Amino acid sequence: MHPLRTLILAAGANDAVRRLVATAPVSRDVVRRFVAGESTDDVVAVTSRLVADGLSVSLDYLGEDTTDEVQAEQTVQAYLRLLDRLHADGLARHAEVSVKLSAVGQALDERLALDNASRIAAAAEQCGTTITLDMEDHTTTDSTLRVLAELRRTWPWVGAVVQAYLRRTLDDCVALAGTGSRVRLCKGAYAEPPSVAFSHPHEVDLSYVRCANALLAGRGYPMFATHDPRLVSVIAERALWYGRKPGSYEYQMLYGIRPDEQLRLVNSGEAVRVYVPYGEQWYGYLMRRLAERPANTAFFLRSLVGR
Ligand code: FAD
Repeated sequence: MHPLRTLILAAGANDAVRRLVATAPVSRDVVRRFVAGESTDDVVAVTSRLVADGLSVSLDYLGEDTTDEVQAEQTVQAYLRLLDRLHADGLARHAEVSVKLSAVGQALDERLALDNASRIAAAAEQCGTTITLDMEDHTTTDSTLRVLAELRRTWPWVGAVVQAYLRRTLDDCVALAGTGSRVRLCKGAYAEPPSVAFSHPHEVDLSYVRCANALLAGRGYPMFATHDPRLVSVIAERALWYGRKPGSYEYQMLYGIRPDEQLRLVNSGEAVRVYVPYGEQWYGYLMRRLAERPANTAFFLRSLVGR
């Protein structure tokens, strides 16, 4: 692992650094570059701005790995409140939610996670929108796909996520690319062993293109989550080759990352969805984003010391 990445991830686990980041007024502004805020009001305000620019969004209430049933219930309630607000503010057509099963009880009991995700999916349906199940580390992939299959029996539009770095993913793409399916393809964000994942970035990119081909050749709605300029142009070329019109697939990027590119794509007629995290537990998310890219870190550290 890159030494700077190791350092930032270590800082992420350090309470003193956490307090400094949470309280320094300038750093709060930087946090706001990647995280929409802590409350439903905050994220609805950011959503309105992005939708006004022609973008769609997927909203993520931050919080992972709950082994506490009460905390899982609080996460469900946060999603239900959010969906109500999106509906009331006329935003639901352009704003869906992304849900991590670990945040709604997967580590405790798969059945509990399924029940909780079902409540969120039912509320999304009532509000006129959709949900996508985020994908987490490889030990949860089979469980997440089982829950997805169950949810899809009632709500066939529940979105799946597949990670190009996993060796299994091309097979998963072929299996998931049926009529009406919504599948987000990303590179993958967890530290995985070579027995299950490609470790060289070039191998991951090649896998991403193979998986993109499988999704574009299928009958579903592919969602290409990447900031990688090379992959964005390969997807544009492959979509043309498969006769896909803009709007029969979409690009996805994270809030605060390459915002100019998000607008360029949408202004050229492409469908673009921005993944927007919010909630009180923003710290771990922010540290992962900083660890991904040293340039972000330099910007962030300068802001902490007020320059
Ligand atoms: P990278 O290899 O990180 O970057 C490639 C290139 O993109 C860089 O060389 C640079 O040119 C450009 N770039 C990247 N970041 C920046 C930046 N900050 N500023 C300017 N240029 C930049 N992972 C999961 O494991 N599970 C999920 O459910 C999941 N959901 C996601 C949803 C969305 C919408 C997105 C965008 C990502 C999601 N991810 C998820 C994270 C994903 O797996 C990657 O870790 C993350 O997107 C970084 O990969 P990348 O494709 O952008 O390429």
